[in-house]
This record gives sequence, C-alpha cells and structure tokens, in this order.
Amino acid sequence: MITAEQKPIDEIREMIAPYKRVLAVGCASCVAECAAGGEKETAMLASTLRMADKMDGEERLIEEMTIDRQCVKEFVLLLDDVVDKYDAVLSLGCGAGVQAVADMYPEVPVIPALNTEFMGETKDQGYWTESCLGCGDCMLYYFGGVCPLARCSKHLLNGPCGGSMNGRCEVDPDIPCAWQLIIDRLEKFGALERLEMIYPPKDWSLKQGKGPRKIVREDQQK
Ligand code: SF4
Ligand code: SF4
Repeated sequence: MITAEQKPIDEIREMIAPYKRVLAVGCASCVAECAAGGEKETAMLASTLRMADKMDGEERLIEEMTIDRQCVKEFVLLLDDVVDKYDAVLSLGCGAGVQAVADMYPEVPVIPALNTEFMGETKDQGYWTESCLGCGDCMLYYFGGVCPLARCSKHLLNGPCGGSMNGRCEVDPDIPCAWQLIIDRLEKFGALERLEMIYPPKDWSLKQGKGPRKIVREDQQK
C-alpha cells in the first residue's frame, strides 16, 4: 500500500486560507490503512480546522466526505454532485489521489493534506515499513523474498556491507539487516547459490528514465 502522514496543521491552514468553502475528501483505501486519510482522520481534520477557525473568528465552511478510492476515476466521479458547492477541495488522498481529483475538476483548486511517503506494509498497529521501490523489474526471487533495494539502507545488490551487528542494520539498528534476512531465507530454502551471481547495477530507466510510467492492458479495456 501507499503510506502517508498528515501535514502539519499550520501548513494546511495556510493553504486553505484563501478559500471560504472547503470540502475535505478522505480516501478509504491505503491512507485509511495507515491512519492518515481515512474516514476517521478526515472527520478529525475537518473538525480541528473548524475549531481553529472558530477560535480565530474566521468564517469558513468546512465539510467532509470520504470516497473508497481517490485514485480511481469511478470513485472520484462521486464528487460530481457536490464539488460545485466548494471553492477548494482538501484531499486526504495520496499524491496520486490528489492529482486524480485535480484532473477530474480542473476548475477547482485541490490542496494536499498529506505527505505521501512510501510503498510498504503494516507491520504492527501504528507501525509501517517501506518494502518496495517500484523498480519495474522485481528481483525478489533471487533475494529470498526480501528486497535489498528497499530494505537495505545502502541498497546493496551483491551482499552485505559488513557493518551488521547481531542481525541489525548498522545505519539504523531499529531495523533488521536486510542482507542477514536474505541469507537466512535463502539458506533455509537451500538456494544460497542464487547469491553466486553478480547482479549488475539496477537499470533505473525502467523506473524513472522515460517519464511518468504507465501500464496499458488492452485485455482490460472495453
Ligand atoms: S526488486 Fe524490490 S523494488 Fe523492485 S519491484 Fe521487487 S520489491 Fe519492488
Ligand atoms: S547493515 Fe545490512 S541492511 Fe544495513 S546497510 Fe549494511 S547490509 Fe544493508
């Protein structure tokens, strides 16, 4: 999933300051899972903003709604019936969600309420970690299901840096050394020979070299 965190409230207030009618739009998918932009967080943010306006004597209408997915046109269309009532949309979607709403309603300013962070997983309650950089050529087979690009602090492809202590990363002892995990897992599967290959530097052109990426699947098109 895509992870995100709410921007500081002062930054949000500064961005919405020119607008008198604001619709806060949450997203019930990834950003709900990471407790940044789901229905609950959207209601809390809208309420905080209303309260702050009240204390400052500001006249502003702030209402909220949450759609299932802000990055999917079919769901964004649900804003059609309401968006005209507002001067601006405050989006609690990820960066893709903000832009999907802005593309659909070019006449309405769409303001990001979140800082989008990384692709990752929920490890525990209130704890999310990065696990994939979206490199465009997945190598998890060779590394026993542990991505050294995302999870080794030095992004090493050909073995550990040598600084790991007790299975922890020398850069950040709060995280396990990805290479320790890779070696342990490949050993368990009897597949350590996969590490005898020399892996060339990653071809980042697959990720960033040709402009924004897109996937076109004709079999999925009507
Ligand atoms: S190799 Fe790592 S960064 Fe690339 S797709 Fe696989 S998990 Fe993601
Ligand atoms: S200690 Fe392990 S995870 Fe940390 S930088 Fe070195 S090899 Fe990578």
